[in-house]
Amino acid sequence: MEQRLACGLHVVATPIGNLGDLSARAAETLRRADLVLAEDKRVSAKLLARAGAKAPMATYNDHSSEAERERILARLAHEAVALVSDAGTPLISDPGYKLVRAARAAGHAVHVVPGPCAAIAALTLAGLPTDRFLFAGFLPSRAKARSEAIDELAAVRATLVFYESGARVGETLEALRDALRNREAAVAREITKLHEECVTGTLGELAERYRGAAPKGEIVIVVGPPAPAAEASDAELDAALDSALERLSPSRAAGEVAARLNVPRKRAYARALERSR
Ligand code: SAM
Repeated sequence: MEQRLACGLHVVATPIGNLGDLSARAAETLRRADLVLAEDKRVSAKLLARAGAKAPMATYNDHSSEAERERILARLAHEAVALVSDAGTPLISDPGYKLVRAARAAGHAVHVVPGPCAAIAALTLAGLPTDRFLFAGFLPSRAKARSEAIDELAAVRATLVFYESGARVGETLEALRDALRNREAAVAREITKLHEECVTGTLGELAERYRGAAPKGEIVIVVGPPAPAAEASDAELDAALDSALERLSPSRAAGEVAARLNVPRKRAYARALERSR
């Protein structure tokens, strides 16, 4: 018989398509838990059967009532409760954060069994910069709210990651192309499943490819960061410095203008000294 798990909440990542991706530790945690909380019991029952887990299950999502959360919290003090979502990592565009927050606030232990996550898997496939990325989840479905959300992200100097359904990918790519122009992007579909694919191209090319041709399955859209802004020309720098030098010392004028025009301070200072002679 397997040992009991530590008491508290165990957040367990599960496969996003390929059941072989259930980690040994995730399977063991599900087997040893006293209770498994699932977004949809029917979906997770198959996974539990595969893991050989016989623990009772209960439904949990972020719409669960305060009273239900209180009942779960009461059990965390003396039992091990595992939380899974339908697929991937709980809390990532999935239920769980309210429960984790409440468990922490009540002083219970929270553990994680990390694993599959479609956003990270898509970033891994896309071949776009990964040093900085922003996970934006699902965009609003209404056109106006969607374009406002995209406009808000336009200046972010990072790769952007969106979740999307096959049915909406065409119109989302068109909205992204209209606001973000021709950035490099990727559409990752059915990751880890039989028909996995990752199509790359500019937003214009991808919008064209998926226009009126809704692909089947689950999708992640990855959009590369904006091109670095061109540095200000000497003429632009001189004009800004001449005006700043009417109020400030060369050093302070250089600092102010360098920050405003996004040029190296050293370049602005050398120019400021010349202009002030
Ligand atoms: N918690 C999950 C995770 O860790 O990725 C995400 C859950 S969210 C409700 C479901 C969305 O994730 C789908 O609409 C799709 O955008 C993305 N997704 C999940 N599995 C996927 C897969 N195998 N291939 C591509 N996208 C996937």
